[in-house]
Amino acid sequence: MRTKAFITLITLFFTYATTFAADNPKVKKIVLDAGHGGDKPGAIGHFSKEKDIALAVTLKVGELIKKNLSERQVIYTRTTDVDVHWVERHEIANRAKADLFVSIHVNSTPGSRTKVRSGYRTIKKNGKSVKVPRYVYKYDKTTEANGVETYVLGLSRNSQKEESIGEYSDNLTGGEKEGLMDEKDPMTAIIIAQYSQAFLTSSVDLGSRIQGNFAKQGRLDRGVKQISVEVLAGCVMPGVLVEIGFINNVEEEKYMNSPQGQTEIAHAIYNGILEYIRAIER
Ligand SMILES: [Zn+2]
Repeated sequence: MRTKAFITLITLFFTYATTFAADNPKVKKIVLDAGHGGDKPGAIGHFSKEKDIALAVTLKVGELIKKNLSERQVIYTRTTDVDVHWVERHEIANRAKADLFVSIHVNSTPGSRTKVRSGYRTIKKNGKSVKVPRYVYKYDKTTEANGVETYVLGLSRNSQKEESIGEYSDNLTGGEKEGLMDEKDPMTAIIIAQYSQAFLTSSVDLGSRIQGNFAKQGRLDRGVKQISVEVLAGCVMPGVLVEIGFINNVEEEKYMNSPQGQTEIAHAIYNGILEYIRAIER
C-alpha cells in the first residue's frame, strides 16, 4: 500500500510538474546561432564549408523546437548566408532576453605537413658538382580526428574546473580563433569569473546533455571543454558552442553534408536542449 501511495504521489508530482512547465516555462526563448557566414566560411573541407553545414543543422534544430516545443520561441542569429559579427550575435540574444544560447560550428584540425623527396638537384661543393636530393613540403589537410565536442565559456587554463569539465581547447584552429578573448587582459578573467558564477553550471549541464545524445548515436564524445570566446562571454544567459564534427575528416564531412547526418545531428542537439529544459522545469 505504501508503495502504491508513493507511486501515486510521484505521478501527481510529475503531472503537476509537467503542467507547471507548460504554463510557466523557465526556458521561453532559445537562440540558435549558426557559426560564421557570408565572406567568413569558417573551416573548409574537401568539398564543403563550415558556414553552410552549420546553417543547415541550425535550421533543422529550430524546426524541431518549433514543432515539438511550440510554447518556446526560437531566435536565429542568421537564417541565410550572411556574416554576423559576434557582438551582434550575443546582442540579438540579450535584446530578446533569451534563456539559452546554442552556437553550432564545425571542427577542423591544422592538417599535416610532410617533407617528401621530389628528385635531385645539383649543387657546387668544393668546386665539384654534387647531386643532392630535392625536397618539397606536401600539405595534407585530411585528419583521422573525429567526434563531437561542446565548449562552455572559461579560461582555457583554469585548473579549478579541470575535474568537472575535462580537457581544454588546446587544438582550436581556423575560424574559431577569431573572436577568442585575450587571456592576458585582466578584464577577461573578470568577465569570465562573473559569467561563470551565473551560468557555468547550467552551461556545462546543457553541454553534457548534448554530448550524451551524440554518444547515444554512436558518435565519439570528445567532452565538454572550456573556451574564452567572445560570442559566449557577451551573453547574459547559459550558452554552449557545439562542434558537430571534423570537416577535414573525409567520412565526417560526407556525414555532415548528408540529409540523414544533418537530421541526426539536429536531433542530438535538440534532445540535449529538451533534457536540459525538463531537468530545470521539473
Ligand atoms: Zn566555427
